[in-house]
Amino acid sequence: MIPMGDVRPVRSLREWLDRLASDGRLGIARPGIGLRHEAAAIANRMDGRRATLFPQPGGHPGVVVSGLVSSRSWMAEAFGVTEDRLIAHYQRSAAEPLPWRERETGPAQEVVHCEGIDVLELFPVPTMNEHDSGPYISAGLMISRDPESGVQNVAILRCQVSGPDRIGVLVLPRHTDNFFRKAEASGTGLEVALVIGVDPACLLASQAIVPLGRDELEIAGALSGAPLDVLKCVSNDVRVPAEAEIVIEGRLLPTVREPEGPFGEFPQYYGERADRHVMQVDAVTHRTNPIFHMIVGGGLEHLLLGAIPREATILATLQRSFPGVEDVHLSLGGVGRYHLYVKLRKTQDGEGKNVLLGAFAAHYDIKHAVVVDTDVDIHDPQEVEWAVATRFQADRDLVIIHNAQSSKLDPSTDKGVGAKMGLDATIPLAAPEMKFKRIRVPGEAEVDLNAVISSGVAWREVHGA
Ligand code: MN
Repeated sequence: MIPMGDVRPVRSLREWLDRLASDGRLGIARPGIGLRHEAAAIANRMDGRRATLFPQPGGHPGVVVSGLVSSRSWMAEAFGVTEDRLIAHYQRSAAEPLPWRERETGPAQEVVHCEGIDVLELFPVPTMNEHDSGPYISAGLMISRDPESGVQNVAILRCQVSGPDRIGVLVLPRHTDNFFRKAEASGTGLEVALVIGVDPACLLASQAIVPLGRDELEIAGALSGAPLDVLKCVSNDVRVPAEAEIVIEGRLLPTVREPEGPFGEFPQYYGERADRHVMQVDAVTHRTNPIFHMIVGGGLEHLLLGAIPREATILATLQRSFPGVEDVHLSLGGVGRYHLYVKLRKTQDGEGKNVLLGAFAAHYDIKHAVVVDTDVDIHDPQEVEWAVATRFQADRDLVIIHNAQSSKLDPSTDKGVGAKMGLDATIPLAAPEMKFKRIRVPGEAEVDLNAVISSGVAWREVHGA
């Protein structure tokens, strides 16, 4: 094994595949695995264990990869840090982004198509979950430009291949939508580029919860320790990572909405079919023999890509108001978005409830939040449950907020309007010391079991009977 933290950050998808392959973390499927469900089924079975590469899937000459960043330790390794520093590294990168560096040429534009574009002919686009409406580009970075300021935004939006050069896009009410509304109001489309096959830093940076007007590609640079090289698109002014495998250039059309969905989403349910935004493809560029990245909806890669950037940015937001907040965790059971655990070094009575209110304000996806003391391991859901079981009283420590903005993909909400529930499971400051003192056997952690437990000895012999 490569010693973690000693390694260089990776700068491209190919470099990352080399790293994974170097110690057996890349499984190679037999050629010709089907693109309809079959590749996704295998990727799900490999989820969290090994990444998978599918040569000539469905008879297409291309290549699909999946499961690139399906563990916290792999993400840390891709940035050249240890896992325990992952969140701090991300926080610093979001706070101190590095402006990108524009180049004249790069691998992402080795091959250029401007006419007769057929996305499904060019790339092996898989169909994943049972009731998905068809082939989806699920790991594409949608990069857009503010029509007024020119500042860029990066987001992963689900993209249905609706026709040879037409893509249905779910645009949630965040930054891409903000740019689109300005473009639509002036009667033009929004210039965009859909970028597929990027390094882990670009993937993770795209999910940062940062203010509007912050180009997430600059966070990618900071994550990997050097400015990101970018290229100007051939048909518009969007800048894209120079090392990307595939760039689909186009416009989100004004006033046009067409059916999109259903699509298997991160909460393990289908996002419904409805009229959505449409991207008209104007040009496609790619590397020679491009690699297509598939993120299977609801898999670990999908959950962790949401969780890690959110943890880092939510922690930074909370710490601005509450210096006693030491750590946060978005649990996998809470689909990496809905359940937040907060570790607080409490100094004021009532502070736990203020922290809960801050958490709900930090991101509308947060639905249930639990605040615990510093002796609780928030990365272990069983520890958090223990704190709730023994330190929380519902009539005193519960906060409920009605009819707040929530995740539209949570099927229990009313079209994205739902309740927030906060649990303050911290110990009262005035509690007598022994009342909440956690039991502990002195020396337990230091025991060297190999030194004290012998194997292969019959108990009757040592018993002496
Ligand atoms: Mn943004």
